[in-house]
Amino acid sequence: MSQDKPMHFIRQIIAQDIAEGLPPSAVHTRFPPEPNGCLHIGHAKAFCLDFGMALENGGKCNLRFDDTNPDKEETRFVDAIKEDVHWLGFDWEDREYYASDYFEKLYELAEELIKNGKAYACTLSADEFKEYRGVPGQPGKPSPWRDRPPEESLDIFRRMRAGEFEEGAYVIRAKIDMASPNLHMRDPAIYRIKKAEHHRTGAKWCIYPMYDFAHCLSDAIEGITHSICTLEFEVHRPLYDWFIDNTSIIKTLAVHPRQYEFARLNLSYTMMSKRKLQQLVAENIVEGWDDPRMPTLAGMRRRGYTAAAIRNFCEVIGVTKFNSLTELALLEHCVRQDLNKVAKRAMAVFDPLEVEIENWEEGKVDMLDAVNNPEDESAGIRKIPFSKRIYIERADFMENPPKKYFRLSPGGEVRLRYAYIMRCKDVVKDAEGNIAKLICTIDTESRGGNAPDGRKVKGTIHWVSADHAREAVARLYEPLFTRADMSDLPEGSDFKDFLNPSSVEEKKILIEPSLADARAGEPLQFERNAYFMADAKLHSPQHPVFNRTVALKDSYSK
Ligand code: ATP
Ligand code: MG
Repeated sequence: MSQDKPMHFIRQIIAQDIAEGLPPSAVHTRFPPEPNGCLHIGHAKAFCLDFGMALENGGKCNLRFDDTNPDKEETRFVDAIKEDVHWLGFDWEDREYYASDYFEKLYELAEELIKNGKAYACTLSADEFKEYRGVPGQPGKPSPWRDRPPEESLDIFRRMRAGEFEEGAYVIRAKIDMASPNLHMRDPAIYRIKKAEHHRTGAKWCIYPMYDFAHCLSDAIEGITHSICTLEFEVHRPLYDWFIDNTSIIKTLAVHPRQYEFARLNLSYTMMSKRKLQQLVAENIVEGWDDPRMPTLAGMRRRGYTAAAIRNFCEVIGVTKFNSLTELALLEHCVRQDLNKVAKRAMAVFDPLEVEIENWEEGKVDMLDAVNNPEDESAGIRKIPFSKRIYIERADFMENPPKKYFRLSPGGEVRLRYAYIMRCKDVVKDAEGNIAKLICTIDTESRGGNAPDGRKVKGTIHWVSADHAREAVARLYEPLFTRADMSDLPEGSDFKDFLNPSSVEEKKILIEPSLADARAGEPLQFERNAYFMADAKLHSPQHPVFNRTVALKDSYSK
């Protein structure tokens, strides 16, 4: 195991198993998404762990689609999930599996349970089922069908499969313990009738296995050793073991799969429930699963978060058994840390103030060298045009500056990034007295930004050439929600009560010409402003559109 990774309880369990004789390369995990939506940052935490544990031991991790609920599952989500896992840098090689691949085998195992008197066909309605199951603290009541003879249950099961009954007419239940303090052990359903087309098996089946039955047995079929899931499955764990221990699958196993539970990721100002994310999409509250405000990997990718930053975040947050709320600021910190290393710098002006350079010839263009990334020499340089008219940010000029104001003011000097030292000579105002334009001069000897006489100019500001700048749209994002803890809403409230009305703002900006050729997937820093990325869907060289990925500095934690 790699030495620089922090120890956590899953690493510890695996290390212990290896110490007790499990060959490291036998470590076999799986990531089991249900293809009913796109993956979000919480899933990333889960699969970084699943793939990570396998990788660091030289073991294997399977990608298994948990597709036992045909109503909500779609092939487009299968494709999206595969893209996201690959994007984050993980590979399942040829081990792309589906719970639906095992429907026949699972059916056989259910028949086997029935034949052995360990499962039965129950005729109770859904409401009666619940009523008989009872409540914690009191034993449940056995179903009147609990002792139905195996031959009769088997006959019903076969006819269920043949489509002879309506939905809800029967369920197959495991015969476990109606007095168990754990409600999940009170004869849970293992098969139900569902007359729905499945995205892979079509109309072949009209009965579908329940998650608890399918998941552990799929793990067993695939030879999974460590089945890592979130805490809510802790109470299902006895059932996980029961199905494996009470079917013939146990005889085929070199290693008994074990389930381990960790705390799910909750992130402040972020909603992680797939069902509710689906609602945001369906009700057009966002522009789709890949809306840059969504906590989905598709959304984050489009916004400009990098895979490396997300992987690092998943490592930094660690793995525990206690639910907690992780600060969004921490994720943004990880994103910033990576972008600082990889983002290509460029200049864009958000609130332009025109500047005319008095001592520059009309029509003359100087192509200046600009460093693409001061953190990475290999990123090289680009040429940027300088001309008689430029734009600077309105906020970089003050008519009556306080002391120690290092940007531009009447009579003062400032350095234009990658260009010249410039002095402000005149302020031109419009009829209402607003500043319309500045008349400046440059020190022609200061090309590149240094004064020939070595005089100090403290401030450096960004700019674009007015004759060459291109118009673009910047999409500025804030969190989708105004409430920090979206995993625990106050009674009677709905997540929509906390929607942030200004989660996206579009702003017209002026960009240096090279930015029109920016590509989605290429991280950018608009100097002194924020990190940005060309939008994968809306950007074109003719109509540049950029997403603000993250501010240069943390603005949440005060
Ligand atoms: P839903 O939100 O619809 O209940 P889900 O988020 O559990 O679904 P799955 O596709 O079943 O979606 O999840 C795949 C895996 O990701 C599971 O092992 C699950 O435990 C894990 N997972 C889901 N959400 C989180 C989260 N917020 N943090 C960590 N792991 C998560
Ligand atoms: Mg789930």
